[in-house]
Amino acid sequence: MTLSRRVGTLLGKEKLVISIDLKPALSHEQLHQRLIRDFKQTRHLKNYLHELLPRLLVDVFVYLCGIDGDKPVNSITTQERGRMVDLLKDFRTTITRMGSLDEAIVTAGGVSIKEIDPRTMMSKLVSGLFFAGEVMDIDAETGGYNLQAAFSTGYVAGEAAAEYVGG
Ligand SMILES: Cc1cc2nc3c(=O)[nH]c(=O)nc-3n(C[C@H](O)[C@H](O)[C@H](O)COP(=O)(O)OP(=O)(O)OC[C@H]3O[C@@H](n4cnc5c(N)ncnc54)[C@H](O)[C@@H]3O)c2cc1C
Repeated sequence: MTLSRRVGTLLGKEKLVISIDLKPALSHEQLHQRLIRDFKQTRHLKNYLHELLPRLLVDVFVYLCGIDGDKPVNSITTQERGRMVDLLKDFRTTITRMGSLDEAIVTAGGVSIKEIDPRTMMSKLVSGLFFAGEVMDIDAETGGYNLQAAFSTGYVAGEAAAEYVGG
């Protein structure tokens, strides 16, 4: 989500490939050791991966590794384990488009803040017209900043509008 704004500006200009570290808490070597330990079992690779990865990623991961998903993990070769570790630490995917507006967390764009007085949130172009929140051309990283912007600008706009109407 944090990257999506950047992606939006770059899409269409160049091919976008992101690399995801699916196991950031473990180094390459630690991951090897973990798999060696886990691969003492007789479970099928696909079943084992459900422990390691989000459910929807399992089939894709098996396909990209080029290992039979029904293979018991205790028969996975050193070379195959190496391919798994590489993919877990450097999972690459090409981004082709943004999600739909229905899935958006925040919209970028709107009324330019150059046209708004920040002391009252009133339009500099139309007297008595006040703005707050996402209708303005402001957006921030997710983490509460957008809500805070909506609350703060709403508070200022509300007070100023009441004063404006009250005379
Ligand atoms: C799934 C999701 C998760 C989010 N998570 C976070 C988060 O964790 N942290 C964060 O900071 N921000 C988050 N946001 C963004 C944040 O919710 C918005 O930035 C914020 O709610 C914007 O407030 P707003 O009042 O400007 O607009 P809105 O909350 O969209 O309010 C606009 C209101 O106007 C109404 N309306 C629209 N048209 C009309 C009309 N013609 N007449 C009357 N009423 C109308 C709508 O029904 C709506 O109730 C998230 C957004 C989504 C969608």
